[in-house]
Amino acid sequence: MRHHNGSVEVVTGPMFSGKTEELIRRLRRARIARQKIQVFQPSIDTRFGQGKVTSHAGTAFEATPIDSATAIPELLEEGTTVVGIDEAQFFDAEIIEVVQQLADRGLRVIVAGLDTDFRAEPFGPIPALMAQAERVDKLHAICMVCGDAASRTQRLIDGRPAHYDDPIVVVGANELYEARCRRHHNVPRD
Ligand code: ADP
Ligand code: MG
Repeated sequence: MRHHNGSVEVVTGPMFSGKTEELIRRLRRARIARQKIQVFQPSIDTRFGQGKVTSHAGTAFEATPIDSATAIPELLEEGTTVVGIDEAQFFDAEIIEVVQQLADRGLRVIVAGLDTDFRAEPFGPIPALMAQAERVDKLHAICMVCGDAASRTQRLIDGRPAHYDDPIVVVGANELYEARCRRHHNVPRD
């Protein structure tokens, strides 16, 4: 079985919204449909160890860690019909063209990644990928303050909301991310 039309699907939303779970669900169904699947993840994402994408609920799917999206066409194997990419927000703008070219060649490309960073600002290449996709799903998590639908990722440093200008790496601090709704998302600016 082989797809005849390429397409791009983007699965996005804040942390804990189930992006990786949904990516894995689609990949498992593609496997049932006897598609040949390859999955890629940025090698900087080392949270759960390399070689697989893993959801917060514990499900996993084997994946190849890469430093740049330009590695995808080089690593593409004969007969692959479905390409999955997790944590796509960490890739450079090159990923936009790479994804378009794969879809133009007839592949089904499923991209998962954060739509916004901890400041609630558009994250890297995801907005452009969303604009060019055939299908976009914005998932929601649960707000850890009120239980409503959470569309944002709250960054906490030593239990307090991270400042807008806080460095991406705070040495020695206890850093945490949690899902929040618009009302309870807080980014102090001064
Ligand atoms: P993402 O890839 O978007 O970060 P995952 O697919 O890894 O999300 O994880 C989703 C799972 O995270 C949920 O099914 C649930 O078990 C767990 N979870 C933990 N905290 C939350 C939260 N605040 N809202 C929703 N799910 C949460
Ligand atoms: Mg994820």
